[in-house]
Amino acid sequence: MDHDGAPTPRLPQASLQIGGRAVASSGDATRSVVNPATGATIVDVPEGDARDADRAVLAARAAFDDGPWPHTPVSERALLLHRVADLMERDIEEFAGLETLDTGKTLTESRADMADIAGVFRYFSALIATQTGDVNPVPANALSLTLHEPLGVVAMITPWNYPLLQAAWKIAPALAAGCTFVVKPSELTPLTTLRFGELLDEAGVPAGVANVVLGSGATVGAALVEHPAVDMVSFTGGTQTGRVISRTAAEHVKRVALELGGKNPNIVFADADLDAAVDKALEAVFFHAGQVCSAGSRLLVEESLRERFLDALLERGRRIRIGFGWEAGTEMGPLISAEHRQKVEGYVQLAQEEGANLVLGGGRPSDERLARGYFLEPTILDGLPSTGRVAHEEIFGPVLTVETFTDAEEGMRLANDTVTGLAAAVWTADTPKAMALARRLRFGTVWLNDFHPYFPQAPWGGYKQSGVGRELGLTGLREYQEEKHLYMNLEVKAGGWFGGG
Ligand code: NAP
Repeated sequence: MDHDGAPTPRLPQASLQIGGRAVASSGDATRSVVNPATGATIVDVPEGDARDADRAVLAARAAFDDGPWPHTPVSERALLLHRVADLMERDIEEFAGLETLDTGKTLTESRADMADIAGVFRYFSALIATQTGDVNPVPANALSLTLHEPLGVVAMITPWNYPLLQAAWKIAPALAAGCTFVVKPSELTPLTTLRFGELLDEAGVPAGVANVVLGSGATVGAALVEHPAVDMVSFTGGTQTGRVISRTAAEHVKRVALELGGKNPNIVFADADLDAAVDKALEAVFFHAGQVCSAGSRLLVEESLRERFLDALLERGRRIRIGFGWEAGTEMGPLISAEHRQKVEGYVQLAQEEGANLVLGGGRPSDERLARGYFLEPTILDGLPSTGRVAHEEIFGPVLTVETFTDAEEGMRLANDTVTGLAAAVWTADTPKAMALARRLRFGTVWLNDFHPYFPQAPWGGYKQSGVGRELGLTGLREYQEEKHLYMNLEVKAGGWFGGG
């Protein structure tokens, strides 16, 4: 195998994990996992099918209905989550190397993902250890309690851009709540999730609580969503897939959590700190080659600042170093696949047909070493008409489009003119203006004078077609819990509507 100098971390066992054991898939099919920076095969993994989904769900069901996990004292569950975080911190280099190989992102980004995963486990550990129920203010002749109980068996379906991070945002709160689960990573990037299954086992997660299956969304993913023994589907991925999942899950009235795509405006006013706004505008869209659900791919800049801002963007943008994620100094890696690069290139073409001017990039890098990977240059398109398709559809690549506005009202109207609502940013030195706009922007996250930060303590999710529900924060735990009203009559006596002789 030729990885062009890529590191060769220890690969996880290329098998499914069901009922606490590494097991073979039901069929003989395999799938090659490809390094997107070189096009070389990293490893062949088993291709699961609907029978594997069924086996995994039944194992999770048995572990929930008959196993100890849902009834394990929260202090023990909290301790186990800390053990997971400890092991992740111990193995952070191994996990980061694997994620970089599988996704193409830089090692710096992968290390940050893995450190965040440890942080997410520690946060939900603290949350479950300290969560209390309520004593409701009912009359004194009764006791009325609100209890938080584990929801049941969760099917988790995850995307390729943040393979393990997105899985961890589901696994940590689900485990904390006392749920059992089956996770299906994207067929393109299964390696860190497989390896994490081994880590959960080492941490002492009881057999059947955590199950990992592989296979395509159309077969294994759909089988999980349809399965009557699944109580909840937690999905992160594209909006179109989210629609299909939502419809199918409705058949059994399953709970559904959806983290979907976005078209995220980055609104820059003329009074903003220019250097900071330029740096973050580049980071907003070129981080992980723009393959980020909250990527700031739509720059809305105040007309009077446009020329200066664009000059600065171009000056810094053309210095971005593209390359192999495992090499020091690389700032941007490849796209995930040849097919995805073609889709992004289609948007670059379409933007020009719609009237935008290509002012940076747009092509594949000329460096021979990168020729077999799925690289695309950092690309900027100026003067995009606000009414076309490109201003409204998620590109999911290293492509920044620039539109202008003349006042706050117009900027806000353009920003809100999208069917999605994941994240938005506002850059201005005028704090009252920023706060007023933030309240009117219909997005799950609004950053003022920054772009991209998120924290385990704060909720993450989308308005409108960017999703249903929230991950992280207290809401991120509640997604995996049922609320039970427990009522005790403290004054037992005959009577009532039909009683009393
Ligand atoms: P995707 O094509 O929707 O796939 C996501 C997952 O769903 C994969 O595991 C996929 O399986 C599976 N899947 C596909 N069809 C399915 C079906 N009919 N039933 C059940 N599962 C099915 O999305 P992606 O291309 O991997 O990810 C990129 C998208 O994710 C972008 O739109 C991005 O904005 C979004 N995203 C959102 C967030 C957020 O927090 N809101 C975070 C990250 C990503 P296979 O691919 O293995 O076939």
